[in-house]
Amino acid sequence: MTRIYHLSYPKANSEQPIICQLVKHYDVEFNILKAEILPQRDGYVILELKGLQEKISAALDYLRSLGVKAERIAGRVHHDEKKCFQCGACTGICPVGALHIQKPELSVVFEPEKCTACGLCVTGCPVRAMAVSFDPATEESYVTA
Ligand code: SF4
Ligand code: SF4
Repeated sequence: MTRIYHLSYPKANSEQPIICQLVKHYDVEFNILKAEILPQRDGYVILELKGLQEKISAALDYLRSLGVKAERIAGRVHHDEKKCFQCGACTGICPVGALHIQKPELSVVFEPEKCTACGLCVTGCPVRAMAVSFDPATEESYVTA
């Protein structure tokens, strides 16, 4: 299975090669989709993990044991159905098909399981009905940009 996670790094771990250990010890593949990690500062990584469910669970337990907060990316992306007026613009923008038009209702559906939190729909939506937040410091800019 494939899952995408938002990892919050405490500054104490910011210089350690933690993610490389996932391949070595937990037999999961990873793909870093986005990251901001600076020495001696809290940081984050958007990480795609591929592998057996139990392996991914063990890898996440390992990360959490080191103080890394791991959260499914689905919880970081929001589709505001009250603001959305179903124009469909975002469905042509999303590179992974996480937004699509459902027939026959012709309603726009957001599938967080597919979303990679790229943020393209945020600026593409005329009424800012999509919001992506990676950490508290940048949340405001994603919501209102
Ligand atoms: S672009 Fe915005 S308003 Fe249009 S369907 Fe997508 S989320 Fe809704
Ligand atoms: S953040 Fe990117 S992947 Fe997620 S729904 Fe928006 S365009 Fe699609």
